[in-house]
Amino acid sequence: MPVKELEKRFEPMEKAMGEHEALAEAGRCLFCYDAPCSAACPAGISVPDFIRRIRDGNIKGSARQLYETNYLAGGCARVCPTKELCEGACVLNALHGRPIPIGRLQRYATDWAIDNRAQILFPGKTTGKRVAVIGAGPAGYSCAAELARLGHRVEIFEARRKEGGLYTHAIARYKISSSFALKELRMLKNLGIRLKTGTRIGADIPFETLLKKYDAVFLGIGRGSTASLNIPGEDLQGVVEGLSFLEKTRSAELDKISIGKRVVVVGGGNTAVDAAIAAGRLGALDVMVLYRRSRAEMPAYKDEQKMALVEGVRFIWLAAPVRILGEKRVGGLKCVRMRLSDADSSGRPRPVPIPGSEFTIECDMVIAALGQVYLSDILSGIHGLKLENGRVVVNNKTGATSVEKLFAGGDCATGGGEMVDAVAEGIRAARGIHESFLMKSR
Ligand SMILES: Cc1cc2nc3c(=O)[nH]c(=O)nc-3n(C[C@H](O)[C@H](O)[C@H](O)COP(=O)(O)OP(=O)(O)OC[C@H]3O[C@@H](n4cnc5c(N)ncnc54)[C@H](O)[C@@H]3O)c2cc1C
Ligand code: SF4
Repeated sequence: MPVKELEKRFEPMEKAMGEHEALAEAGRCLFCYDAPCSAACPAGISVPDFIRRIRDGNIKGSARQLYETNYLAGGCARVCPTKELCEGACVLNALHGRPIPIGRLQRYATDWAIDNRAQILFPGKTTGKRVAVIGAGPAGYSCAAELARLGHRVEIFEARRKEGGLYTHAIARYKISSSFALKELRMLKNLGIRLKTGTRIGADIPFETLLKKYDAVFLGIGRGSTASLNIPGEDLQGVVEGLSFLEKTRSAELDKISIGKRVVVVGGGNTAVDAAIAAGRLGALDVMVLYRRSRAEMPAYKDEQKMALVEGVRFIWLAAPVRILGEKRVGGLKCVRMRLSDADSSGRPRPVPIPGSEFTIECDMVIAALGQVYLSDILSGIHGLKLENGRVVVNNKTGATSVEKLFAGGDCATGGGEMVDAVAEGIRAARGIHESFLMKSR
């Protein structure tokens, strides 16, 4: 397929609002007291307030209010599963079934700020305290921005060459462009944040060095690659890891990505559904998602499951892979049917194989898109750090860990949520760090 056609297929889908539409939609808001939409926003954005400012023509004030509460408000406007968060809680759903398009209004205000390079965030008065942030993803950047606004000097250490974490590397390209994401991060960097990319803490600089050198350290390292399927045949050509497949769609020239004709994606989360949609758009003729539980338990956003169905993806529920078939290359996937039993430790029904129910799917590509693993190398090397099932245990008010001066947040602590959760956790930890400085000075 010509590269131009491929690029068109991956263009951001959500169209920006013009002024007339924004004013009309803002005018529909009931400006509820104790607004349920604000309560449903993990970052606690005061939705009626930012919408009122749009209605009153104060777009800069609206953008300022958004960015002061959520440092990636422009990104979240595009990638938040709004139907499951703020818009899902809008009272207009019950009145006439059409909620206020909060995400698109948020985009209207934040796009204005980014396009006009408006200066709306300012660094605080210098305190002399220095904080190291490990990881330049949504959690790390948000923690750094809040600390800079509180007057602390912040240095971010990022393992990759490009900042942004999953925001710039993995979230679907048809939701957000890298150029917008990088502009938003640049606005935050202008608060005086120093960024050192290509520096992996634990390999290039020992973790203990940071803990000694800085007044506090924030850990926002996210998680690693998707877990392996642990079945025979995973080393065959044509088996790919889900996250790196998605990362290629964000970075590589789309026509250089090799794609099979019949593709099976294994997994039931957002990575699996995003990978299936991407495989179809890259030109695969038949794309299937194989999930071991039923449709009801699939963790992927409901809207995206619908989008995948509309784009021709087939879902095979209650089935698990047993062996990848083939000599050198993938030729098929042997699977077994599952039934659901009592709840397991995650609270979801446990899938159990049905003896004698094996079947084979003919395919030439398998994408392993199970959940991401924790970065145990660095985490288990931190002396005294309390972990629970691989994730960092934090105080849910301050983000403090079991190690003095060390705070954490984002996917490495939650085990994986939405981008807006990582933003909120980064801000929470920054306030926890600030509070710890104040306590020490009392
Ligand atoms: C495929 C996929 C699609 C998603 N789609 C959406 C979506 O549509 N909407 C949504 O709201 N959320 C989505 N999410 C979730 C969202 O991307 C994450 O919740 C969010 O990015 C977590 O932010 P974080 O900062 O905790 O981690 P990350 O974004 O993973 O950032 C961590 C950063 O730390 C760096 N790092 C790791 N180890 C080290 C080290 N030792 N030294 C220095 N740096 C290090 C990494 O390189 C990375 O840049 C998606 C997630 C995935 C996997
Ligand atoms: S940050 Fe996300 S959840 Fe919060 S109001 Fe904006 S779009 Fe809704």
